[in-house]
Amino acid sequence: MTPGAPGVGGAKPGTVYLVGGGPGDPGLMTARSLELIATADAVLYDRLIPETAMAGARPDALKEFAGKGPRGDSKLQPEIESRIVELAREGRSVVRLKGGDPFVFGRGGEEAATIAAAGIPFEIVPGVTAGVAAAAYAGIPVTHRDHAAAVAFVTGQENPEKDESTLDWPALAAFPGTLVFYMGVKNLPRIAERLIAGGRSASQPVAVIAQGTTAAQHTVTAPLDQIAERVATAGVNPPALTVVGDVAIERERIEWFEKRPLFGRSVAVTRARPQAGKLATRLRELGAAVVETPVVSIQFRDNEAVGAIAARVAAGGAFDLICFTSANGVDAFFTALEDVAADTRVLAETQLAAVGTATAEALRRYGVIADFVPDRATAEGLLELLSKQALEGRRVLVAVASGARPVLADGLAEQGAMVERVDLYDTIATPLTDAQSEALAGADFVTFASGSAVRSLVESLGGVEPLRGPSLVSIGPITSGVMREFGLEPTIEAKRHDIDGMVEALLEAQVNQANPPPTTD
Ligand code: SAH
Repeated sequence: MTPGAPGVGGAKPGTVYLVGGGPGDPGLMTARSLELIATADAVLYDRLIPETAMAGARPDALKEFAGKGPRGDSKLQPEIESRIVELAREGRSVVRLKGGDPFVFGRGGEEAATIAAAGIPFEIVPGVTAGVAAAAYAGIPVTHRDHAAAVAFVTGQENPEKDESTLDWPALAAFPGTLVFYMGVKNLPRIAERLIAGGRSASQPVAVIAQGTTAAQHTVTAPLDQIAERVATAGVNPPALTVVGDVAIERERIEWFEKRPLFGRSVAVTRARPQAGKLATRLRELGAAVVETPVVSIQFRDNEAVGAIAARVAAGGAFDLICFTSANGVDAFFTALEDVAADTRVLAETQLAAVGTATAEALRRYGVIADFVPDRATAEGLLELLSKQALEGRRVLVAVASGARPVLADGLAEQGAMVERVDLYDTIATPLTDAQSEALAGADFVTFASGSAVRSLVESLGGVEPLRGPSLVSIGPITSGVMREFGLEPTIEAKRHDIDGMVEALLEAQVNQANPPPTTD
């Protein structure tokens, strides 16, 4: 290969992106990192990246573990660097994904130098470094007008008693500001000793933050001369870092993350992906560790029956009233309309009914407002509301999921309406992986937002046994009924039968729980 033509066979090499993935909380990943992960041909990732960091990668992208540490497939640094170069020379765009910031104890500098020397184009995408972020999530600002005008990031990996230590311990001890040690928990006793020997106050506050910014965050605080012992007693799981400085005292005033109402609790969300989003987001904001189990996936039907209904609706005037019982039904309906090149205008003469606020909201997204939304978000609730209307001879379409209960259609027909039902979509159970089943069985709460979620979860699990441990949360009486069919008794039933109602029920249950979440000191 000649210089200036670094690609294989003279092909143009791909660009390498050295990307920081942030400290653990997926919300702390930068917009640029997500954009690059979503488009990369290859992603080489480290051990300490956020759990869901790769979720947006292309399904056909090459994903390779390229990290070091306590794992069987651990790689050596030169190996990693030649792999990056090799992939780029094949013309691929490569994301090299690292925890935190790539240039803070990430060996990003070495990787960049190798890539530059190989003549491969590259870009550095900084990330939120753990030393700043974990401290912030523990309620500790690394600088502060009253306490610290400087902050130092220090490697704690070097054993201060060894001669080859390159750190100037007396200078570190005298450093006029906060010291943040990465990788240093094993050496904590020696680090504390050396700092005190160098003149740092034995009573200076120290915080050790483990698994910072994640639902498993655990913080131990103590004065410098006691911190090693405290950490040994408390036991902390890696990764952890140590913040030495008066700033640590601020935690007493501004601790927030570990105080959130569902912190330390794990909650399983058993819904199809698209809607799991809202509940999962709300629960995460409240501090819960969310276990997402995609037990059902939604598949819109694209068959003759659906096509025929869509064509009749598109022609206009086919129905006086259309009833929707779920947001999925709304989406499936408008997808079918779009397939016959029709839009909301064909509904001008048609009244619309929606079970549940989420369903009404879904309609609003298509620019139409539901005429009927019952207070009780059940088919029975809608039936009761519609019974107040003159139904005799009215042409009603009930748009539902396959397998939906016949209550609504039957009840409307009983009152003289001319009812047709169309099954717009199927909910399909997907089997859970062993890891997902285990996480589910170990969760504090398992939430059920529909009867079909109960059925599919039990089907995916191959039984109810894993659901014996957790508290079971039901969105409402219909779902509870389905649970009981399987011999499962809901621990909590939401008073309001929607996502917010379910969150409220969880918060109440949390307050009433006999055993509070583990406290940190
Ligand atoms: N490039 C990374 C650091 C890599 S070195 C960054 O900028 O954050 C690995 C060390 O970072 C760990 O040993 C630990 O000290 C620290 N670390 C990484 N993630 C952490 C987290 N979530 N909580 C606490 N410390 C963390």
